[in-house]
Amino acid sequence: MGKKNKQFVEKITAMEDDFAQWYTDVVKQAELVDYGQVKGTMIIKPYGYAIWENVKDELDRMIKETGHSNVAFPLFIPESLLQKEKDHVEGFAPEVAWVTHGGEEKLQERIAVRPTSEVLFCEYYAKNIHSYRDLPKLYNQWGNVVRWEKTTRPFLRSSEFHWQEGHTAHATDEDAAKETDRMLNVYADLVEEYLAIPVLRGRKTEKEKFAGANYTLTIEALMHDGKALQSGTSHHFGSGFAEAFNITYLDENGDSQYVHQTSWGLSTRIMGALIMVHGDNRGLVVPPRIAPTQAMIVPIAQHKEGVLDKAYDLRDKLSNLVRVDIDASDKMPGWKFNEYEMKGIPVRIEMGPKDIDKEQVVLVRRDTGEKEFVALTELETRLPALLDEIQQNLYKKALDHRNEKTSVAKNMDELKTVLDNQGGFIKAMWCGDIACEEKIKEDTTATSRCIPFEQEKVSDTCVCCGKDAKEMVYWARAY
Ligand SMILES: [Zn+2]
Repeated sequence: MGKKNKQFVEKITAMEDDFAQWYTDVVKQAELVDYGQVKGTMIIKPYGYAIWENVKDELDRMIKETGHSNVAFPLFIPESLLQKEKDHVEGFAPEVAWVTHGGEEKLQERIAVRPTSEVLFCEYYAKNIHSYRDLPKLYNQWGNVVRWEKTTRPFLRSSEFHWQEGHTAHATDEDAAKETDRMLNVYADLVEEYLAIPVLRGRKTEKEKFAGANYTLTIEALMHDGKALQSGTSHHFGSGFAEAFNITYLDENGDSQYVHQTSWGLSTRIMGALIMVHGDNRGLVVPPRIAPTQAMIVPIAQHKEGVLDKAYDLRDKLSNLVRVDIDASDKMPGWKFNEYEMKGIPVRIEMGPKDIDKEQVVLVRRDTGEKEFVALTELETRLPALLDEIQQNLYKKALDHRNEKTSVAKNMDELKTVLDNQGGFIKAMWCGDIACEEKIKEDTTATSRCIPFEQEKVSDTCVCCGKDAKEMVYWARAY
């Protein structure tokens, strides 16, 4: 020891100074993403992809456990097909990337690169659903979509992103409504239990719902800077698409009926939430349940005889219990500490000659920085328990933060004051008129995030116009 380590990882901007720059620095320094060659596209690097894969694997399991099958539909949509449902095409038209040529040859009809795949599934269902026996159809696909965005940021808003999109068809409106609820709850469970991010569950207003949907359900999370992020949506289509695409089935009496549909999606945007909810000025913080490496062993004074052997033995022993790795490179321990803090690995295990003599290791948790000495004989019970504690603590910290940053506003002055001073979610009553919703957005840049399922009556009158209120809405500035 005593030697100063000159290889410290590059510093990141403090989040209090410039949150947007902090975000960009973390994305880069934690080696999650690089920029693609076409503006707004991203290269998800191995570490970023490993985290996404853990999220994806859990969600995929939940999707299958609820009876869905994975399928793969094409990347391309003929223009005529995209135009079949009027609201839908109007909603997506400004963001569609078009293919106009195949090689040198100009195409007779333009082809859209899918911005979402509703119309492809509808066309397929129209041909493949005939009888009530064919229902429900419960399909999901993992893939990428393209939306030509003007301003882009890695994960949060990119021209191409990865996601899953579920598309289902049911015999009755009620069945479709149940499915819409069920998948919203799957998303909420995933985000709360695995990503340790508390979410609000509710319905989008008419203005904010998905183009072509009957209604849209959403989970909304609060980021560290007090802005909201829509984190997953589930749409009830009723028979709107079925009528446009003529998707019918013969019921048990032999009468022709329209099917009732849903779609639901969760994307790599959730990686943005992960960074902005848990990250700090030392970098990323990854909840243990989705961390590719849950514990990193850093041998101390590894040139001394026996240290590396013991460290490798420890790794082998722990690898049956947790996702553990070892850094036995010749970089200085100080560099390694910083590097794995930047990457947000939940626990660091230090082991040097003195520890070996005492038959112990040092555990350092990423979320609090606390150190503890643990006897080797205790480690196999203590380490998994510590990972659980970290998972719980991250959720609790995020929930406390959200509660601190949730306010009530009864009029426009209060709404503006809260938004300018602390941001966060604002509970306010609404008359249901879209004109008020638009005025709030115009005056404050805050949008309606959701009409929560758990309603409260925080006042009698609309926050904007003062007329009788119908519902409570969560408002926030959002990503
Ligand atoms: Zn109003």
